[in-house]
Amino acid sequence: MSYLGPEFEPVPQRRPRRGPFTVALAALVPAALAGWLVYEVVGDSGGSGPSAQAAGASGHSAAPSAPGDKGSDKGSDKGGGESGDKGAGSPSATGRKSGSGSLKGKVVVIDPGHNLGNFKHPTEINRQVNIGTNSKECDTTGTATNAGYPEARFTLDVSRRLRTLLEEQGATVKLTHDGDRPWGPCVTERAEIGNKAHADAAISIHADGSAAGNRGFHVILPGAVHDGAADTRAIAGPSRDLGVRIKDGFARATGTAPSNYIGGGTGLDVRKDLGGLNLSTVPKVFIECGNMRDSKDAALLTSGAWRQKAAEGMSGGIVSFLRG
Ligand code: ZN
Repeated sequence: MSYLGPEFEPVPQRRPRRGPFTVALAALVPAALAGWLVYEVVGDSGGSGPSAQAAGASGHSAAPSAPGDKGSDKGSDKGGGESGDKGAGSPSATGRKSGSGSLKGKVVVIDPGHNLGNFKHPTEINRQVNIGTNSKECDTTGTATNAGYPEARFTLDVSRRLRTLLEEQGATVKLTHDGDRPWGPCVTERAEIGNKAHADAAISIHADGSAAGNRGFHVILPGAVHDGAADTRAIAGPSRDLGVRIKDGFARATGTAPSNYIGGGTGLDVRKDLGGLNLSTVPKVFIECGNMRDSKDAALLTSGAWRQKAAEGMSGGIVSFLRG
């Protein structure tokens, strides 16, 4: 969400986290074992089915990625890795991971927008921080679909999927948070993490909270800002290059159209009011993957299979940028 409008609404937490997560895990473990058993018995080294399922279910990406998402992980497993730009015939995800290292030495920082715990910490996240051009809240709660699927859950899930894809290609990937802290980090720290990591590329992942009927994705590029601690003059150009490639990759992988309400159909927007961009000294963009408040976009955003495609699209754009 782009830090305007309904993003300040508190996010309802519909269910305790541990319950469905435990249930999902309990369901996944036997499924993974069954997958391996079938794989072992049949001994099929050519098919991507059993081995891909087993690798997906037992890896760190699939199990924790969508604890609150009903039934959509199946689709993500099927889609995982198959529509990407690398080795679809490769027998296993593990093989792909060790086999290609074209991004070795490259550092990517992924920023999952918001934090599921933010709404419980209003004092901390409402604290004003200096983003160069002005002061702003440390962080915000993010939006949610009308059915209560929070943006913060979406962003963390897509971020983990993207991390897996980039690590498979040899990149060093750092998340600004990984569901491992009660709130935040502040937008200032989100930028700082990318800067300190000397990231070759950084991306902040969001979904918007606009009016129903407003649909589609857009990539937000940093405008050239030179004010206080903010100086984006050196990164504005490379960030645009990164953003255009991510926009193209995302459109191709998801088949979804650019925003019909921001960017005039280009899928691109330029902003000078986002701390995460203003304070970045490395090439960085935001992506708003869709509008959580529109029912058709929400149907995509809540689908694990679609989120996998979204991650693949971002990965394609980032890889293209890093390879020049
Ligand atoms: Zn957001």
